[in-house]
Amino acid sequence: MIRIFVVAAFIMMGGFAQADDFLIENVRIFDGVNSKLQAGHVLVRDGIIAEVSRSRLELPAGGTRIDGGNRVLSPGFIDLHAHLTGHIPADQHGQHATLYGAYAVDAARFFLNSGFTTVRDAGGTHPDLARAINSGSLAGPRVFPSGAIVSQTAGHGDWRSRNSAHPTLGGGSPYMPGDNAVLADGVDQTLVAVRENLKNGATQIKIMGGGGVMSEFDPIHSLQPSPAEIRAAVQAAGDWGTYVLAHAYTSKAVTRLVENGVRCIEHGLLIDDATAKLMADNDVAISTQLTIYRILGNMEGLSDTNREKAALVLEGQDRLIDLIKKYRIRTGFSTDFIMGQYPLLAKEFEYRSEYWTPAEVLAQATSQAAEIIRMSGKLNRYGNFGEIRAGWVADLLLINGEPLQDLSVLNDPDSALALIMQGGKIVKSAL
Ligand SMILES: [Zn+2]
Repeated sequence: MIRIFVVAAFIMMGGFAQADDFLIENVRIFDGVNSKLQAGHVLVRDGIIAEVSRSRLELPAGGTRIDGGNRVLSPGFIDLHAHLTGHIPADQHGQHATLYGAYAVDAARFFLNSGFTTVRDAGGTHPDLARAINSGSLAGPRVFPSGAIVSQTAGHGDWRSRNSAHPTLGGGSPYMPGDNAVLADGVDQTLVAVRENLKNGATQIKIMGGGGVMSEFDPIHSLQPSPAEIRAAVQAAGDWGTYVLAHAYTSKAVTRLVENGVRCIEHGLLIDDATAKLMADNDVAISTQLTIYRILGNMEGLSDTNREKAALVLEGQDRLIDLIKKYRIRTGFSTDFIMGQYPLLAKEFEYRSEYWTPAEVLAQATSQAAEIIRMSGKLNRYGNFGEIRAGWVADLLLINGEPLQDLSVLNDPDSALALIMQGGKIVKSAL
């Protein structure tokens, strides 16, 4: 009885309503791949890009005409490394999971209003929250959740204070506050942790693959986890047709991860030439971030240990970008904002422009990031996105100014974005 009522209420709220048809006319199209803009028109039907044409298209009956006014039309942006539930202020860490969720709702709205129609959550965000956003109940980018980050004891996901008892040696829960990480030691616990994430709805698995900045116990040079534990995570993810992404900085850590089947390395700031080549040879992607590392050392709530480690990894940034370019390692746009720093989202475009052309950065933020997310195979239930092509999901932005000449037009998303469309639904229109 209760169930029938809930379904009826959902229909009345428009939960099953079809997306409208739109004809977006008179735009210059950045398709996500080509650096040259193409003048044209785009027809959107039922949430999908139905047609892209240089000549005028007919407006379907009942459809809405949108005059693009010769603006640039881009695919929606994508962030490969978000932590929606990572924005609880430092002094509130350890509070109940609902509080992590409350801050996540604000962050999700900000991402979407900044033109980000999809994010891969690199750990922490529970798939239940992803489902609420992806169904349209809450505003936010389409979320590909990794669930709780799998970490060994004393690893980068072990966020206890130094004197606290081990959670499971006393028979308790292996989850860290907010369920943002789960401790797993040995092959068996790793299999359970990964499979539990998959059961909850994770679309890929995140593991801590080496020392990290924001944890207390693990030096940056520490290797985490063992080859057998990595293989266990890769096996369990692979059995679901998906892949493992791993946090790591050093050559030793990344080599071990690549040799045992990890498909995407997060950060990677301290790798050497040979390791970069190993990644390229194995078609392993890198998702690294510029802004967060440049501000991390000065953020509030860090211990002296954290600050030392932040300075250590930042030194590798220039060299890593050189290696990514030298070996053409697959990459995409990625931020890793935590503790409420996401209002700096546009900075990531700006800093990337120091190394890449605007067209290259925009390709990272659209087609290239999408290609990495699609490694989740059949767990991606949303079809193809990240490019403006017939048959692909209608995640679209109309941008004021000339982003292919200067990405600083994105510095103020409120004025830069004239239209935000996500899955064929208009999120914002300021035309
Ligand atoms: Zn992260």
